[in-house]
Amino acid sequence: MTAILPAAGVLARVVELRRTIHRHPELGFEETRTQALVEAELDRLGVEHRRAAQTGVVGIIRGGKPGKTAALRADMDALPVTEKSGEAFASEVPGRMHACGHDAHTAMLLGAAHVLQGMRTELSGNVVLIFQPAEEGPGGAQPMIAQGVLNDPKVDAIAMLHVDIRLSAGEIGITPGPVNASADEFYVTVHGRGGHGAYPHMAGDTIPASAAMILALQNIAAREIDPLGSVVVTVGTIGGGYRNNVIADEVKMSGTFRAHDPEIRNTLEARARRILDGVAAAYGVRAELEVLYGYPPVVNDPVLSENFARYMRTQPGVTVERPSPTMGAEDFAYFAQAVPGVQVRLGVRNQAEGIVHSGHSPQFRIDEAALPIGVQTLTAFAVGVGSGAVAVD
Ligand SMILES: [Zn+2]
Ligand SMILES: [Zn+2]
Repeated sequence: MTAILPAAGVLARVVELRRTIHRHPELGFEETRTQALVEAELDRLGVEHRRAAQTGVVGIIRGGKPGKTAALRADMDALPVTEKSGEAFASEVPGRMHACGHDAHTAMLLGAAHVLQGMRTELSGNVVLIFQPAEEGPGGAQPMIAQGVLNDPKVDAIAMLHVDIRLSAGEIGITPGPVNASADEFYVTVHGRGGHGAYPHMAGDTIPASAAMILALQNIAAREIDPLGSVVVTVGTIGGGYRNNVIADEVKMSGTFRAHDPEIRNTLEARARRILDGVAAAYGVRAELEVLYGYPPVVNDPVLSENFARYMRTQPGVTVERPSPTMGAEDFAYFAQAVPGVQVRLGVRNQAEGIVHSGHSPQFRIDEAALPIGVQTLTAFAVGVGSGAVAVD
């Protein structure tokens, strides 16, 4: 099999594009400048494209030979973080930063478009290039799917890259099965009766009740779920009360439920409600629970993941690892529910250069030596799926 290595000119362009996007970060559904950059680059390459989900772009490369259709997805949005990375090409927008590597994802997909467009007469099948807005919220994958990005042409398999600080540049990670968790928000309001801090017997104190609820909720993960079925219950905020000698009549808390297994995920609301109601009854107060369901778990298609990992092991210069799943969340989950999908982790760590900070950190940086590996990986997926060398099922 021939290795698909991007040429030096493509890679220089990817670095340039990545740094340009990095300087001008935009939040979800505000990616107008990034959208224009993507469209201009696709125009320059002669790749047909259309808009989707407001600030998203869909490019299509039609191969000269028959084959399957592969989709490649990059996210484009940044985070409301003030950059402290020290990079020469740091964000020029206060309070906005590409702290999750989506600048690199977008630039690498444009690099893959460059390579694939250059070989399109020899290419088997079509390639759909999905530049998605708003991954960090409120979510661009669902509107893109609703607008038919997987249907025209019909996509047989989809891949994405996400930079990963656990792996070094030169390494990629492909793990079959669940790799990211569902992320659901919950909100608790505890209602009691206010009163004088010196006369607790005449009030219904929401503060000790809330403390007991927080501890009791930990039993979902600690005692109720199979220890091998990953679950996180985090109470992230708590607020209530007026002053030191007043009994609080109301406390509000919020938190996140995370799970890998959709069946376990679907039990969490009922478990939390039972525990909150029980503790509330014991303390003579009342608890309200509201759950806002977010992204489902990302489940890498087992067959596609194994086949693609095997294929990538034949590519020069790439080491294929099998990293542990995380309890982070990604709306690529929706694409992977619709068609066989694989999330590929791209190593960007460089210990010697101090590139060790996790995504979403103001110090976040990536080793740009990873960019060619990412372009190579995306290109290989399109070529492999299109030609049948990477079997989809
Ligand atoms: Zn992120
Ligand atoms: Zn991300």
